Amino acid sequence: MMVTGDGAYIKKINRSLILQNIIEHGFISRAELSKITGLNKATISVQVVDLLDENLVCETQQEHHAVGRRPIMLSINGEAGYVLGIDLDYEQIKYRISDLQGNMVYTETVLCNTDDYDESVNVLIKLIQKYKKKYAGSHYGLVQTIIGIHGTVNNDETIFFVPKLQWHSKNLKGDLEKALDMNISIENNANLSSFAERVYKHHHSNNLLTLILSSGIGAGIMIDGKLHKGYDGYAGEMGHMVIWPDGRKCRCGNHGCWELYAAERVVYSSLAEKLSKSSCDFDDLKQLTAENDPTTREVMKTYIKHVSIGLNNIINLYNPETLVINSELLKLYPNAVEELEEYLISSVSSYREIVLSDLGSNASVMGACALAIQNFFEVSEIVFFSDED
Ligand SMILES: [Zn+2]
Repeated sequence: MMVTGDGAYIKKINRSLILQNIIEHGFISRAELSKITGLNKATISVQVVDLLDENLVCETQQEHHAVGRRPIMLSINGEAGYVLGIDLDYEQIKYRISDLQGNMVYTETVLCNTDDYDESVNVLIKLIQKYKKKYAGSHYGLVQTIIGIHGTVNNDETIFFVPKLQWHSKNLKGDLEKALDMNISIENNANLSSFAERVYKHHHSNNLLTLILSSGIGAGIMIDGKLHKGYDGYAGEMGHMVIWPDGRKCRCGNHGCWELYAAERVVYSSLAEKLSKSSCDFDDLKQLTAENDPTTREVMKTYIKHVSIGLNNIINLYNPETLVINSELLKLYPNAVEELEEYLISSVSSYREIVLSDLGSNASVMGACALAIQNFFEVSEIVFFSDED
């Protein structure tokens, strides 16, 4: 019957709205929920009975309330279940366990000295199995695992290509689900990082772009609060926009790609060349920056100029509210953002803010956990307050 269908649909939307607000506020009374959502108190009460019944929400009496009756506060029952976020990087796996309130329970980075696909799958199976077992006693157990991939991921969550591992067309999701009998999700790491920036830091910033400047360049694009993935799922390959006609040859087949001028390895190789050293790494750069070395300053100045050329193009394409740059290198450099902005002089490009990421290399696993929680509660948006940094 039509009416029943509509009723169930509306009930589902109301439930999602109520859950979303309990997550965002941490603790909230039924009266406040009614005020914020515009739903009447009877509707809220009926829904809350269900949520209490399902162990998703719990009640606490507020301890220190100034005057009058202490209201009963609702909050997410964090210990009802757990999520696992994994960042599958080259030679290392970073992971994070979070409860359903978004609190970090555990995090670790383990070395993984293999690029062999089957061996990597076995490492992941062991890791996920361990936490599946560990949390089996909680009401919902380990509800989802999301894995961030440093490469292109198809819209059906199969892997298209991981450059550093040289993996082509792998069904990691299928292979893990077969072995583990649980819900696994695969996502590009830059997408997860962008998602994390919005959930933990730049709340409600609907047009947010995250650029990861590491050994390559990755980007996660959020438009109108949703991840923008493109036709195949590969949107955000901004490292391969051409900024230099007849420039250096890139592995993608083109010449003069941005990545060849603005990925962090460019700084290391250029610095090594200028200082006549065989190589340079992050610690060398840190040391040289601390010593105010003029060559390092010069290399960084050129680097920042090259980064700004790509930024100018990206800003013109997306008109972002928030542009987050996730870069260990730029964080070392004082006034990096101010110097970048000095190059962004075009009168037609506009954005609200450019910021360096506080989440850094944790962004991907944090995003994975947050997305798993959002999926579990079936809400359209979540807001957490980061306890990091
Ligand atoms: Zn390229």
